[in-house]
Amino acid sequence: MGEFELIKYIQTRLARPLPESVVLGIGDDAAILATPSNQHVVVTSDTLNAGVHFPRDTSAENIGYKSLAVSLSDLASMGAKPWWFNLNLSLIDLDFDWMEGLLDGLNDAMDGNDIVIIGGDTTGGPLSLSITAAGLCGPGKALRRDGAKPGEDVWVSGSIGDAACALQHMDTASVDLMARLNRPTARLELGQKLAHDGLASSCADISDGLLADAGNIAARSGVAIQIIAADIPIADEVKRLDPNNALKYAATGGDDYELVFTAGAAHRNALKNLSAELNLPLTRIGTVLQGQGVHLLDADGAEVSVKSPGYDHFSST
Ligand code: ADP
Ligand code: MG
Repeated sequence: MGEFELIKYIQTRLARPLPESVVLGIGDDAAILATPSNQHVVVTSDTLNAGVHFPRDTSAENIGYKSLAVSLSDLASMGAKPWWFNLNLSLIDLDFDWMEGLLDGLNDAMDGNDIVIIGGDTTGGPLSLSITAAGLCGPGKALRRDGAKPGEDVWVSGSIGDAACALQHMDTASVDLMARLNRPTARLELGQKLAHDGLASSCADISDGLLADAGNIAARSGVAIQIIAADIPIADEVKRLDPNNALKYAATGGDDYELVFTAGAAHRNALKNLSAELNLPLTRIGTVLQGQGVHLLDADGAEVSVKSPGYDHFSST
């Protein structure tokens, strides 16, 4: 299979009916889009490098799934509705079986999320996947990191620390826990609801670690965020598998792709109802304060010191 056949094959395997807003998809020098009127376009890029973002022996299916899921999660955290994505591939060689697996995984991540592929690039080199994805949202409705205000509550969706625990306990973790690492669900419905109904003042997805991602909100909003360690929702299996490290996974683990967001206390009831409607736990874990930084508190109100708040590619310590 040559490059041309490969692109044709990708196009065929990932084909979905194109919305009117995609005027021209794969096959030309570039795609053509018609921006829906009165919508803002939200754009995000993510790169997954072999050996850095996934172990080299990760299945092609899981690589394909996760490469798109992390972009969908960025769209979710902005409150955007998925629209299209570009797939940039750097491949060591053309292994058909591997490609088949990758496309299976991508298809799984696309299913039910109403997103189409409109192009990409194919090159030879170290194994790496990069996806640029776009979504749409109402003007002024996007969930940004810079809107948190003192006095508001801090919330998270789902359970936190699952992916980090699964990574450390691959041999003993349940199928469900491993799926939290390999098959994360972008919280698209939640993000869109929070944005549409104006329930959240700021939001981020938890990719680097709860403290790191909450820290981004604090920094961008010019506030402090206080998190009560005992209130962080940790899955029973994580507490059972590794009780000594459960809090570390939850606070600093990352890769969960849940949402952390801030909301005024007036929205507590609405968020409770939304949690029931989406069948997704939403848990209040802290408070926005004046000041700066993220502060994790134990049961006595003492600050828990954390070595590293999350994953940093260029950290020297
Ligand atoms: P050019 O050399 O002009 O950049 P390419 O041969 O790279 O054109 O791409 C031709 C078409 O195939 C374009 O529509 C491009 O978006 C698409 N394409 C290339 N690689 C991929 C890929 N990995 N996945 C999806 N579409 C791709
Ligand atoms: Mg090209």
